[in-house]
Amino acid sequence: MRFRLLLAFGALMLGSQASAQSGAEGRWTLVIHGGAGTIERDRITAEQDAAIRAALSHALETGSAILRGGGTSMDAIEATIRELEDDPNFNAGRGAVFTYDGTIEHDASIMDGTTRAAGAVTGTSHTRHPVTLARRVMTESPHVFLRGSGADEFSLAQRLEQVENSWFETDRRRRQLEEFLAGETAGLSAYDVDLKYGTVGAVAVDTNGNVAAATSTGGMTGKRWGRIGDSPVIGAGTYADNRGCAVSATGSGEYFIRVGVAHEICAQIRFRFQQNLAAARASVPVDEEGVPEYYVHASEFGLEANEVQEIADSVIAEMAELGGTGGVIVTTPWGTGTYSFNTPGMYRGMASSEGGASVAIYGDE
Ligand code: ASP
Repeated sequence: MRFRLLLAFGALMLGSQASAQSGAEGRWTLVIHGGAGTIERDRITAEQDAAIRAALSHALETGSAILRGGGTSMDAIEATIRELEDDPNFNAGRGAVFTYDGTIEHDASIMDGTTRAAGAVTGTSHTRHPVTLARRVMTESPHVFLRGSGADEFSLAQRLEQVENSWFETDRRRRQLEEFLAGETAGLSAYDVDLKYGTVGAVAVDTNGNVAAATSTGGMTGKRWGRIGDSPVIGAGTYADNRGCAVSATGSGEYFIRVGVAHEICAQIRFRFQQNLAAARASVPVDEEGVPEYYVHASEFGLEANEVQEIADSVIAEMAELGGTGGVIVTTPWGTGTYSFNTPGMYRGMASSEGGASVAIYGDE
């Protein structure tokens, strides 16, 4: 626990509008994922490995440039995800998985930790960048969540770039649908055929201490009956709150929805922070009139990286107990960035003002 003497009591996170007060001045962090699953060395060719790492590095640099220049976490994560949506290696935008009916339907969400404003879309078919549509839902509509044809209509009204549904198609994903359908005939469930991974997500804290999170996906290969996963569900696949953290998830969406993974992690971080701060304040000696000898200021007080890791790991473990698999990326307003996943691998990357950028694929990296 860290605290130091200051002249006045800090307003302890009086509301969600409380922003820079908890940030480490001038420090930024960006964490991204490109999906989690049975990602093992013997399943990925050297070319695929290199292409994924290059794509993650490129996306990471896109967002880092914005944060380095003093831009907002919202702008950084949106720009980062747009790059990944255009990259056919990932299950988002171009390269997204096929539905049972052989179409492509996107889900996306975004959340601003400063205001807890959020936007999300599900089942969109023509918007090139679903993450941007989610952000427009947040900023240009009175709603949080739009679906299907209504979301497509709103996208047109917003003059967002439209493409034919076939523009999103790739041969690799079509083969996966064929495998899925063959597996179904052989009596396998969707979860026995790990053909979904590649969802993309980004979380960031900017130099003002504001966090934001976004997630974009095609969902699961062979999805039908209007199935919606966790990715566009605020609180399940995406959550951001300056009083706690920002989270983007990937994995077996049904389980992430049941646990409310993203909100659960943020809430536990918020409570732990409040407990630590209260304990620090309670330990300050007081004079005869009850006036504290010194003051503990919230802005100088954040969770340590190991505490954040412990909380993220425990929520992933809880989700795993129900039978789910996948992972999360997390950033706190204090600059800590981390991953937690229970799959053999997760496409991921992290960059910060504190030093360098790194990308990884396998669990042992
Ligand atoms: N979570 C996504 C979904 O269930 C899929 C994934 O992240 O791989 O739609």
